[in-house]
Amino acid sequence: MNKSIRSTFLVCSLVVLSFVLSVLTVGATEETSPVKALADRDVYYPGTEDLAPDEMRVIACGTGMPNARPKQAAACWLVELGNGDKFIFDIGTGSAERLSAMKIPYDYLDKVFIGHLHSDHFGDLDALWVGGVVGNRINPLRIWGPKGHKTEYGTAYAIEHMEKMLTWDKGSRLGNVDIRGLELEVHEFDYKAVNNAIYNENGVKISTIPAIHALDGPVSFILEWKGLKFAYSSDTFPNKWWREHTAGSDIAIHECFLPPSLLITKQGFTPGTALNVGTQVHTSPAQFGKIMSEIKPRIAVGYHFFNDFDTAPVVTADIRKTYDGLLALAVDYMVFNVTKEDIKVRMAAIDEDIWPQPATQPKIPAELDKRIGFSKETISGRLPFADIVKDMFDEVNKKYGTEVPLPH
Ligand SMILES: [Zn+2]
Ligand SMILES: [Zn+2]
Repeated sequence: MNKSIRSTFLVCSLVVLSFVLSVLTVGATEETSPVKALADRDVYYPGTEDLAPDEMRVIACGTGMPNARPKQAAACWLVELGNGDKFIFDIGTGSAERLSAMKIPYDYLDKVFIGHLHSDHFGDLDALWVGGVVGNRINPLRIWGPKGHKTEYGTAYAIEHMEKMLTWDKGSRLGNVDIRGLELEVHEFDYKAVNNAIYNENGVKISTIPAIHALDGPVSFILEWKGLKFAYSSDTFPNKWWREHTAGSDIAIHECFLPPSLLITKQGFTPGTALNVGTQVHTSPAQFGKIMSEIKPRIAVGYHFFNDFDTAPVVTADIRKTYDGLLALAVDYMVFNVTKEDIKVRMAAIDEDIWPQPATQPKIPAELDKRIGFSKETISGRLPFADIVKDMFDEVNKKYGTEVPLPH
C-alpha cells in the first residue's frame, strides 16, 4: 500500500469509526447516560419555566368535590398568560394550598373570578385573602362574582359577610403587619347577561354566560387573549349559552360529575338523589361528552369528580359514548400549556416545603398606633422574659442595621 492510499484508508477508517462512535454516543446520551439530564423531563416544576409571549398555561388547583379529600381540593383553576397576567377561576375549599405550590408571589394572585357561591367554588377565599397578606401580598384582592336573584344571594353580600366573620382576624393584624393586602375590591355583575364582558385590561377579555345550577346566579367564564380562547363552566347543566359561545375553544373545562351508578356505590347517595344531582343539578359524563361534541374544543377537560383508578374508566367509557375528541380528565396539579400550534399536558411536581415569595414592592412598617391592644386583665398575665427578648432585638438590629426599640 503506497503512502497516499494508506492515508486515504486511514482517513476513511477514522470517518467510519467517528460515525459509529457518534451514533453510539448520541444513543447513550439520550437514553442511558448515568450523568446527563434527560432532554425532556415531561414534568412541570413550578417557577422554573418561562412562558412564551403567546403562550397560556392553565393549572388545575382544585378538581374535586365539596367533601374534602387529600388528593383533590375543590374547584380552582389558575390561568397564566405570556403577558404576565394571572387569573384565578373559582377558589374552592383546599385550593389555596395548591395555589401556594405554584411559587408565584401573592401580588400576582390578586384577581379571582367566582362562578357561583357554593363553598366548593369559593370556600378558600378567606385563606387567599388573609393568608395572602401574611404571604406578602400588598395589592388589594380583586374579586368578580355574580349578583343573586336577591341581594343576599349575591357575591357582594357574601364578601361583606366574610369580612364580618373575620372581624377578629382583621382586627388582630392592625398595627402588627403591613395590612394593605387586606383591602378587597368586589365587582358584581348580572348573571343573566349573555356574553357579558366583565373584564377588559391589557389585551385580556373575560366574559360571562349564564350557567344553570341549583339556583339562579351561577355563570361560566370565557377568557380571550391573543386569539386563544379558554372556557370554564364552573358548575352547570348543559346549556345553549355554553354551546353557542364556547364553540371552538382552545381549551374547554366543563364539570363532569360521576355517573349516577357511582354516586350510589361510592358517594353513598340514594338512587333518587343520585339521579337528580347527577343528571339534573350537574352534568353526567355522557352529557359532558355530548356538549363537547357540539362545541368541538381543541381539548376538552372534565373535572368535578373523584378521579381514581376505579372511577376514571367508568367516566371515560360514558364520555366516549358521545365524544371522540381530545380529552383530559383532570386531577389536581395537571398543567396545560396552550399555544396556537400545540397543547401540552403534564403533571406538576410539587415541593411541599413551600414558603411565600417576596412582595413585588417594598413593605411598610406596621402602624403601631392602629393596634387595638389588650385589656388590663389580659395584659396583667404577661411574662415578658425581657433579657431573652432583648438579646433577640439586639441581634436583629445589629444584623439588619435597624433600630427597632424594645417594648416596655
Ligand atoms: Zn355548585
Ligand atoms: Zn361544584
